[in-house]
Amino acid sequence: GTLTELVLGTAGRHGDKPALVDGVTGETLTYAELAEGAEAGAGGLAALGVGPGDVVGLLSHNQPRYALAVHAALGAGAAVTPMNPVLTAGEIGKQLRASRAKVLVTAEPVAEKAADVAREHGIEHVYVLGEHERARPFAELLAGGNAAPRLDLDPETAVAVLPFSSGTTGAAKGVRLTHRNLVANLVQTRAGWRVGPGDVQAAVLPFFHIYGFTIILHSGLLGGATVLTLPRFEPDAYLAALAEHRVTRAYFAPPMVLALANAPDVENYDLSALRYAFCGAAPLDVEVTERAERRLGCRIRQGYGMTEASPGTHQVYDDAFATTPAGSVGRLSPNTEARLVQPGTDTDVAPGEDGELLVRGPQVMLGYLDNPEATASTITDGWLHTGDIARVDDDGVFWIVDRLKELIKYKGYQVAPAELEAVLLSHPGVLDAAVVGVPHAEGGEAPKAFVVARRGVEADDVLRWVAERVAPYKKVRALEFVDTIPKSPTGKILRRVLKERG
Ligand code: ATP
Ligand code: MG
Repeated sequence: GTLTELVLGTAGRHGDKPALVDGVTGETLTYAELAEGAEAGAGGLAALGVGPGDVVGLLSHNQPRYALAVHAALGAGAAVTPMNPVLTAGEIGKQLRASRAKVLVTAEPVAEKAADVAREHGIEHVYVLGEHERARPFAELLAGGNAAPRLDLDPETAVAVLPFSSGTTGAAKGVRLTHRNLVANLVQTRAGWRVGPGDVQAAVLPFFHIYGFTIILHSGLLGGATVLTLPRFEPDAYLAALAEHRVTRAYFAPPMVLALANAPDVENYDLSALRYAFCGAAPLDVEVTERAERRLGCRIRQGYGMTEASPGTHQVYDDAFATTPAGSVGRLSPNTEARLVQPGTDTDVAPGEDGELLVRGPQVMLGYLDNPEATASTITDGWLHTGDIARVDDDGVFWIVDRLKELIKYKGYQVAPAELEAVLLSHPGVLDAAVVGVPHAEGGEAPKAFVVARRGVEADDVLRWVAERVAPYKKVRALEFVDTIPKSPTGKILRRVLKERG
């Protein structure tokens, strides 16, 4: 079936229970309201001429009505292309044009910008989740009395979501995820995460990224849980929301874990309801994890995935939280296969060795948008080349070493920035760090660290700290103190930006 059938087909069972709650305004959307609203919205969109093969742009922060917009579009047979509200008008225009969006749904704070972009690109229909003078209220679509169309979508080929990858390694790529891809990944997730009606999930990571979309929003809806939406992460407000709403499951990206590990008064909040904390999207340091765990009173375990895999291929399941080591990304999801190969080849590495991770399963995308060459070089024989270097132990537990493209080649040796960042973070005076390769006379390329430090910390002291803990070829050879490390909305270090600074 479709994603909507999977997550809302059972909504009747949860009826008046809040499906989503806005952590700021308190606005709620019950399961019944979500299911009925999605039907009505699908009818409204269909009446505008939106149908299978069409795309609806969605430019909004996390809020309950986000889910309504998604399922109205899907109900009309269209796909959703989600966008980060902080994108510039030029960037939004680019994505709308690339995806050939027919309709744009937006949020109050960015409606002005959305209306301008839509006009520039000849998009006639702009709706706002709320009210704004430059757009029609989304509620109007629901109130038209139009019945949802009866469709016969093929879940194997009908695209449901068209997210763009994070653009960490180059230009962001449009990723075509079908209903079948998303349904598969939700069923895989559910095999080990027993999200149920008793759960409250905190959703601060953005729904416009596939992690927020599938793993936070939709796993919550599928389980009949309540999804608490928060528009941005700020440690005190976040902790207050966890306590007030008795959140049972938290979803982190590494910068959140780092901020909570260092936040001054975590202990002032009652986090006794919190049972599972999950982290993904970028490397998470073990020492930082343990510090945050002690403060939150809850284990933090990881999963791994990518936009191209809907996103999950590895995760630590509920039952394995206590027995799976911190720092690993857990085991393969059911119905998913993995291989480790010598980068750039099809040759498997010897058991126990690091290699590029290839994954295969029903959650792997149909392909990139309008880019058959990139699709063909990324997926061979169903195997998705992740571009990440991984290791697996005898128990089938995986570790992500680093991104292939980000490995630094010093005199022919490979140095993983993530390993050096972990060593830097273990220095008591270091608050955050990022390492990139910079041109180096002798080594060709050598690691340079960008460091956010406590006052009074000396560069030489930090360099020595690293040198004492790693093999000589891995030494950090340049260091610059900075105020912040540039990161994506899901906490990926933007190494491109740092490299350009040199
Ligand atoms: P682009 O492909 O556009 O350069 P991106 O790969 O960062 O951007 P995403 O699809 O959002 O875009 O992220 C997937 C990547 O995130 C993975 O390939 C991997 O490098 C990283 N990642 C995800 N989870 C983890 C994790 N638990 N540990 C380490 N890295 C992770
Ligand atoms: Mg990628």
